[in-house]
Amino acid sequence: MSISHKPVIVIDGPAASGKSTTARRAAKELAWLYMDTGAMYRAITVKVLRLDIGLDDKDTIATLAENIDIKLEPVEDGVRVYLDGDEISEEIRTPEVDKAVGPICEIARVRECMVDLQRQLGSAGNVVAEGRDMGTIVFPDAPLKFYMNASIEARAERRRIDQEKKGIKVDLEALKADIAARDYRDSNREHSPLMAAEGAIHVDTTDLTIEAQVAFIVGQVRALESDQKN
Ligand code: C5P
Repeated sequence: MSISHKPVIVIDGPAASGKSTTARRAAKELAWLYMDTGAMYRAITVKVLRLDIGLDDKDTIATLAENIDIKLEPVEDGVRVYLDGDEISEEIRTPEVDKAVGPICEIARVRECMVDLQRQLGSAGNVVAEGRDMGTIVFPDAPLKFYMNASIEARAERRRIDQEKKGIKVDLEALKADIAARDYRDSNREHSPLMAAEGAIHVDTTDLTIEAQVAFIVGQVRALESDQKN
C-alpha cells in the first residue's frame, strides 16, 4: 500500500469510549485537522428538527442532506459547527438531537452525502477523522486505524462526570442502559454498522487517562512518519 505523506488517520468506537477527546487533542498536538463526523450527523438532525420533519419521512430528510451546507471550523478546543451559515455548536448537543440522530444517520442516502463530504474534507490530508465507519467505509485505506472501547461502567461514569460538570444529576444505571441501547443500535444497523476495521489497532481505554491515549496515537503517527522517511 502506498502511504500518503499527508495521511488521514481514523478513530472509530462506541459512544463515550474516549475517542472524541482523544481525536481532538491528538489533532491539536499534531497540528492536523480534527474531523468530528458525529457532529455532521447531528447538524442534519438540527435541520430536520428545526423544519419539524417527521423522522420517518426518509425521502425529505435525504433531499435535505443532499442540499445541506455544513461547515466545521477548527478552533482551540474542538470545532465550531455551522448549518447554512448559522452556528449550531451548542444546539447539536441537546437531548432532542441525541434522540433524533439515531434514525437519521441510518438513512442510506444521508450517509452517502456525509461520506462524500467527509472524503472531500479529508482530501487535503493531515486529518484525524473520528466516528463509527471511518476505517470500514469512509477511509478504508487509512494507514493508521484505531478502534477505541472501554467497559460500559467506565463509559457511563465518564458521561456522569460530564453531566455533573454541567450541573445535571444523572443515575448511573440509567446511563448504562442508555449507552447499551446506543451500542446495540450502532452495531446492528443495516448501513455502516459500528465495527472495528480490518487492521485496526484496538485501544481499551477503561484504565487509560486521556493523556495516555493521546500520547499513544501521536506516538503511532510519529512512528509512521519516521518509517516514511526511511
Ligand atoms: O459521536 P456522536 O455521538 O456525536 O455521533 C452522533 C450519532 O451519529 C450517533 O448516533 C452515531 O451512531 C452517528 N454516527 C454515525 N457515523 C459516524 C459518526 C456518528 O453513524 N461516522
